[in-house]
Amino acid sequence: MAHSGIGIDWHAFAPGRRLILGGVEIPHEQGLQGYSDADVLAHAITDALLGAAGLGDIGQHFPDTDERWKDADSMELLGVVVARVGRIEHVDCTVMMERPKLSPHREAIRASLEQALGCTVNVKATTGEGMGFVGRGEGVAALAVATLID
Ligand SMILES: [Zn+2]
Repeated sequence: MAHSGIGIDWHAFAPGRRLILGGVEIPHEQGLQGYSDADVLAHAITDALLGAAGLGDIGQHFPDTDERWKDADSMELLGVVVARVGRIEHVDCTVMMERPKLSPHREAIRASLEQALGCTVNVKATTGEGMGFVGRGEGVAALAVATLID
């Protein structure tokens, strides 16, 4: 039986921060604001996995009121969840970002995520077409769908 879960996340750009997507650092003049390393893609995938497994959401497991998760490596948190959810069949995800272009980094992100998840991963990219917080370059959003099989 297959179970699917959806995850969505967004973080605002801020100066003096790193831009990390799916565990891959992307060179850019600013990064994402957040309590952890603000890896918006890792967070969306973590939520998708928790959803598919019926285990709530990322905020319940890694609350931002807990000092342990300050500046946390989100790929490590993802690894904790991967170990709990069982066999992952596939993950599909979309990064919504105006700048920088994701395409030069897409393969590195896919490889990083496939190693962490142990399944096939598809990484898609889109922009905000100049609209909304993504389009104005104020932040990045990510969507993910994870499928588990038992
Ligand atoms: Zn997040």
